[in-house]
Amino acid sequence: MTTNSLHLYEETLRSVLAETRPAGTERIPLEEAAGRVLAEPILADRSLPPFARSERDGWAVRSADLPAGEGTLRREEGVLHAGDVSAKPLGRGRCMRIMTGAPLPQGADAVVMIEHARERGEFVDLHDKEVAPSRHVHGEGTDARRGDVLVLPGLPLTPPRAAVAASVGASLILVYKSIRVAIITTGDELVPDGAVPGPARIRDGNGPAARAIFHALPWIEIAGARTVGDDEDRLAETVRASLECSDAVLLSGGVSMGDRDFVPRTLERCGVRRILHKTAIRPGKPFWFGVSPGGILVFGLPGNPVSFQVTLREIALAGLRRKAGFSKPRPIDLRLPLRSGFEKAIELRQFLPAILEEEDGRTVAEALAHNGSGDFAGISRAEGVVVLPEGRRRFEKGEMVVFHSWSLR
Ligand code: AMP
Ligand code: MG
Repeated sequence: MTTNSLHLYEETLRSVLAETRPAGTERIPLEEAAGRVLAEPILADRSLPPFARSERDGWAVRSADLPAGEGTLRREEGVLHAGDVSAKPLGRGRCMRIMTGAPLPQGADAVVMIEHARERGEFVDLHDKEVAPSRHVHGEGTDARRGDVLVLPGLPLTPPRAAVAASVGASLILVYKSIRVAIITTGDELVPDGAVPGPARIRDGNGPAARAIFHALPWIEIAGARTVGDDEDRLAETVRASLECSDAVLLSGGVSMGDRDFVPRTLERCGVRRILHKTAIRPGKPFWFGVSPGGILVFGLPGNPVSFQVTLREIALAGLRRKAGFSKPRPIDLRLPLRSGFEKAIELRQFLPAILEEEDGRTVAEALAHNGSGDFAGISRAEGVVVLPEGRRRFEKGEMVVFHSWSLR
């Protein structure tokens, strides 16, 4: 089988993760922590809610006073607003006006909504389907108890988690340090930024693609983006400089079998231990991975733009997420029907750049026609990839396939 001499995709991922240790931690203000990865659990510092509170604007009552869900009660003076504490308990046969978020007065155990009440001077007529204890009341400690774990470590601080952290007074939180990633694009054909390419020369697309991916991730800092020609000594110098200032180094190009593909041997010359070279995937077969003595991850990605983006998203990012402290190195797989049948030309696992479409009220994945792994324009609409596993060639229209969203990564 063609895959014999190559590493399977899952094995490649396992090897990357097995070599990866999370970076250190730091304590930072909550307002700077959006999107960062939590390194400690967020615990409830008191009951949630901390007091029984009204869930509606209405009337606080004793449910026993409205046995059939209705009755007329004498109103107490005043109104309880959110933030107020009632000075006196609610007596039998009485009701008190209360707004959403206010603590129930002592003695009250239910709330009748304003819409279900009619005021008549000192009295209020109240009716509801039923008025059982706890009706429209968010009971003290019904969400969580003091000391409960509200959020586990290894997860990013999303907006709902920021709300939780703030609510329990976690104004300084322990997060994993952002990881510093150095980008090196290689190739004699690449012209410097801003230069007009002469014949046979091209502009660098992979450096900007990597930067665009990393800029969107709050747990990554770009530790330099360098371009170097296919020259062993210059490359070695650039690799050494990058290893000095990063937790991971990402190289583009020079990992295949060409006469000037110097990346693998140069990395080894710089003390980077090769873990694997060549993976049974298309695009991206020349993928190279190694680790420096200090634990810096080094990814040698093929220079073809489609191969580069696929191997960066589908392999390198899993290692970077683990290094950044994520408990799950990969976001969840989506499973969607294929919009059109597809026949692979090879046994290898194939990643097809794809978009999502709506068809007959459901979401389907449509592979983008493109002109091979050099066709970066053909994949400019890609929202992710369809994953066609090894061992099978034919995939039918409507068949459920795994889709990896590139916005979830
Ligand atoms: P390589 O992996 O170095 O053999 O390059 C494979 C193909 O990708 C060649 O056609 C290169 O010109 C092209 N390529 C390499 N690096 C880049 C880059 N940074 N941006 C765009 N194309 C590239
Ligand atoms: Mg090259």
